[in-house]
Amino acid sequence: MKKIIQELNPYVPEKPLQQLQDELGLKKIVRLSANENPYGTSPKVKRAILDWDYDLSNRYPDSSAQELRDLVAEKFTLDPSQIVFGVGLDEVIVMLSRVFLQPGDEELVSVPNFSEYALHAEIEEAVIKEVATKKNGQINFTALLENITDKTKLIWLCNPNNPTGTLETVASIEKFVQQVPKETMVLVDEAYIDFVTEQEPATAMDLTKKYPNIVVMRTFSKAYGLANFRVGYAVFSNQIAGEVQKVRLPYNVSSIAQTAAIAAFKDQNFVDQVVAKNALERTKYEDFFQKLDLKFYHSQANFVFFETAAAHELAQVLLENGYLIRTGLRPNWLRLSIGTPKDNLKIQKIMADFFDSVLN
Ligand SMILES: *Cc1c(COP(=O)(O)O)cnc(C)c1O
Repeated sequence: MKKIIQELNPYVPEKPLQQLQDELGLKKIVRLSANENPYGTSPKVKRAILDWDYDLSNRYPDSSAQELRDLVAEKFTLDPSQIVFGVGLDEVIVMLSRVFLQPGDEELVSVPNFSEYALHAEIEEAVIKEVATKKNGQINFTALLENITDKTKLIWLCNPNNPTGTLETVASIEKFVQQVPKETMVLVDEAYIDFVTEQEPATAMDLTKKYPNIVVMRTFSKAYGLANFRVGYAVFSNQIAGEVQKVRLPYNVSSIAQTAAIAAFKDQNFVDQVVAKNALERTKYEDFFQKLDLKFYHSQANFVFFETAAAHELAQVLLENGYLIRTGLRPNWLRLSIGTPKDNLKIQKIMADFFDSVLN
């Protein structure tokens, strides 16, 4: 076995909810630790799945995901061949690491961020260099530039960033790309871009038409509410997409997943409603944190990241009350996916009571 695999700390996936409920003896747990969509998915997805032709079960899916590809290309005015689909954005991260990293190469990441970037770089035996975000949670572009060497192959930017929730402007990303060597790829993970309400346009997608070394990634798992179907994609300049296609497993995205994604993508009205509800609830959380005098970052995503010295105890109390949130991303910080208005209100009540009892 490869030595690196023996030493690897694997990604720890969420436990099935039923299992967790049984372990804790709780009737119901609301998972707010994985940034899933609390409003489900478009009802049109259900219709499309029920209408799906079961007789196709023994046939391989369309390798090119042509219908979905054309829809995405049309919406963002791309050449359809710029897009590579993956089994979730997760698989896109694997493909990028596989294509661009050789043992000893360097990958730059802004931390804290999504742990899978480093995980797959490790598997390729690359060296991971971390650059801390600024005090306000924003990406420190200057420090990233200072850390580029002739071995730097990949630079990951997550925008809005998981877990800080903070947003970078397209202009700042473009300015950054202009200063990065042409041989270094700048990877922009836009898993949460649909939730942005402060900037128009927020996506860096157009930059793929101008700079061969930028990649923009999306997923159907968050705003579209399709986490179970595993569909994500990356948009490349034309020069690079064909090379990445070479490592993609030929039938990676199943027909039923393609069908679900097509139906979800066509129902932008559902996404708009989710985004509007999320934005309103996000503001309420910010007001709440301010009132409690807790430090938090200004989020444009569907989660909030905040600091408390009692992080561990608070997460425990929330769990006992049926709310699972994300710990362990940074000491004393918690990441909380924004839930439904009803759940958010309950959580704020639990938190207010918790801090009352801690302080008194
Ligand atoms: C959730 C998430 C992903 C993974 O998305 P999938 O399409 O479900 O694999 C990728 N990047 C970030 C930053 C995420 O938070």
